[in-house]
Amino acid sequence: MNDASPSIVWFRRDLRLADNPALRCAVESGSPVIAIYVLDEAVPGRRPSGAASRWWLHHSLRSLDDRFRRTGMALLLRRGPSVDVLLRLAAETGARTIVCNRHYESYWDDIECKLAEAAERAGVAFKRLPGSLLFDPDRLAAFTGRRYKVFTPFWRACLKSDEPPQPMAPPDHMHGTRNPPRGDDLADWALLPTGVDWTPGLQKAWQPGEPGGRERLAAFLDEALPDYRDGRDYPGREATSRLSPHLHFGEISVRQAWHAVRDRMAWSGGVMDGAGETFLRELGWRDFNMNLLIQFPDMHAVPIRREFDRFPWREDHGALSAWQRGRTGCPIVDAGMRELWETGWMHNRVRMIAASYLVKNLLLPWWKGEAWFWDTLVDADSASNAGNWQWVAGCGADAAPYFRIFNPVLQSRKFDSGGDYLRRWVPEIGGLPDSNIHAPWEAAEAVRAQAGISPGDTYAKPTIDLGLTRTRALAAFKTLRNG
Ligand code: FAD
Repeated sequence: MNDASPSIVWFRRDLRLADNPALRCAVESGSPVIAIYVLDEAVPGRRPSGAASRWWLHHSLRSLDDRFRRTGMALLLRRGPSVDVLLRLAAETGARTIVCNRHYESYWDDIECKLAEAAERAGVAFKRLPGSLLFDPDRLAAFTGRRYKVFTPFWRACLKSDEPPQPMAPPDHMHGTRNPPRGDDLADWALLPTGVDWTPGLQKAWQPGEPGGRERLAAFLDEALPDYRDGRDYPGREATSRLSPHLHFGEISVRQAWHAVRDRMAWSGGVMDGAGETFLRELGWRDFNMNLLIQFPDMHAVPIRREFDRFPWREDHGALSAWQRGRTGCPIVDAGMRELWETGWMHNRVRMIAASYLVKNLLLPWWKGEAWFWDTLVDADSASNAGNWQWVAGCGADAAPYFRIFNPVLQSRKFDSGGDYLRRWVPEIGGLPDSNIHAPWEAAEAVRAQAGISPGDTYAKPTIDLGLTRTRALAAFKTLRNG
């Protein structure tokens, strides 16, 4: 290769230097590297990113640019249709190669195929490399002869195939072009909120970017992994990794997370194997949801089980808004929705409870909840968000049966028995004793008065009766079977 001719590395949800197969491929070719992120807001079939994702993206791009600048390079930012922007850049710089990490969402797959064709016509080599999942879905399908819709056989097949490759170290030397092309200013992309700044809670909770992801993984391994299997369902404990936004934006690769945990399992002589295996399996759900999205590209809007098209969902703007704002009067639901609003993240157990409350107790369409999460989660992910919402709603391929309805009060008593999580996020009921905090409406008036609670004034009155709404949900579900 003529080393004056640069290689273009196209970054998307792989905003890291370590274990980045595309970057490694370009660097090893010996050519100068142009690293580019394209803000493509018109990818057919792709929803605009939510507000919390845009906030994260801004900071993650800044962090990646910093990392490149330390090596004397920079991250080029350009805006427009990906194929046009990349080929124009190749023509402008004389690049003979464009390389990226493969993304499996159908809209990215379409663009990658179009880019392959257009690049070939232009005499530019285009390479896409696996690296964003643990198990390449096409290899798995070739290996097993099928694509999976149910998690357990999927995971069994994954574990029978080759283990995910060891992660690669970041390149120890790389160089850019002598006259770097000019790009956009990140601030002009207006990814941050332009009106009221609602992001202080996010700023406090997160450090977007590869160094932040690495720190988070190290802290998890040292502090939380040993308690992961037993503690991961308790929202008041710091027992999960909180790696989800870092994994979503590819600031840490899923293979790095996999091997970091595998190594710890070996070190501990088997003591932590249970915790480690449980964690690896959770990473497996991330792969599984992407496998579902490959098969059901409209998963965020269309139920996988199509009989749910006929489900008699209600319309109730007031109830939806109370749920979104954490003012339903059901403490565990309100705590979760407030945690989400404040930090852009919600504990998995509480996501399940809050989602179940929306679709089963309120009987509101699951896709409205999915859309709210899409806008407010820093880890909002086309595959995992839609896949989990369909799972909770009972309309997914491998879903919790619709008739299994969570009782949010029992869930709260079981997983937050001391009320730590509730007191943190719903402080106005913090004075209630543990026995009443999960269902303040059951407390005697004197107890409520002593805790300074006046329902409907200091804390919302429950808008629904959990028992009656459960019966209503089961009746609604029955209409599907009768239809
Ligand atoms: P950990 O328990 O530490 O798990 C490690 C990693 O495994 C996670 O970071 C994540 O990448 C993966 N993982 C764990 N559980 C799941 C799961 N059920 N599905 C897919 N991947 C999983 N996760 C997202 O990443 N993006 C979403 O948009 C998203 N939306 C959700 C919506 C609902 C209604 C529900 C019930 C779950 C959703 N999840 C989503 C899955 C899960 O809640 C989060 O991945 C998890 O809470 C992230 O916290 P953590 O990193 O501490 O997880």
